[in-house]
Amino acid sequence: MERTTILFATKNKGKIKEINAILADMDVNVVSMEDAGITAEVVEDGTTFEENAMKKAVEIMEISGKITLSDDSGLEIDAMGKAPGVYSARFMGEETPYPERFAAIFENLKDVPEEKRTARFVSCIAAAFPDGRRLVSYDTVEGIIGWEAKGENGFGYDPIFYVPEKGKYMAELSPAEKNAISHRGKALRKMKELLRKEL
Ligand code: IMP
Repeated sequence: MERTTILFATKNKGKIKEINAILADMDVNVVSMEDAGITAEVVEDGTTFEENAMKKAVEIMEISGKITLSDDSGLEIDAMGKAPGVYSARFMGEETPYPERFAAIFENLKDVPEEKRTARFVSCIAAAFPDGRRLVSYDTVEGIIGWEAKGENGFGYDPIFYVPEKGKYMAELSPAEKNAISHRGKALRKMKELLRKEL
């Protein structure tokens, strides 16, 4: 039987690597938008992670005709009313360097004690099948916003996100350590179990 091809709707090579590693023991072939020759941009104008993830999966499935997965993720800081949330990539402007964003967040939280600096990374993964089936998985990793930026690994807000269960900042973890506990790693593993039942 021919292997099922699954398109992962992202231009981020790191995310493709992550999903390939997690789906490695399934009989599927994961391809990127680039592999499939798709250049379409999906406008992420939803107000929830699920809305954005499903919109992206459905629009790209309609263009590709293939089972399409997509993810939407972000950081929720409780003392900032769960901002930046779905706007994490665009917080203070898409081009604003992360160190400037960190400084603004530290300033915002300057009088907030440790026990109220709770935050979480959120990941929602959506799957759209050409026959109309839809799947969604969701997971988080809980942490606190630290008092300094630390670590060189990862990306985005990882240097200011302290992970109590590891006693380290997210950016101090190796890629394998991060995958094992991260929002996206956990949501991807949940999606894998949902896909197993459908394929
Ligand atoms: P997305 O690519 O539209 O899902 O945007 C997610 C944004 O949330 C990224 O640009 C980062 O700013 C932030 N984000 C999501 N996941 C992570 C992570 O694992 N570490 C750090 N920042 C993240």
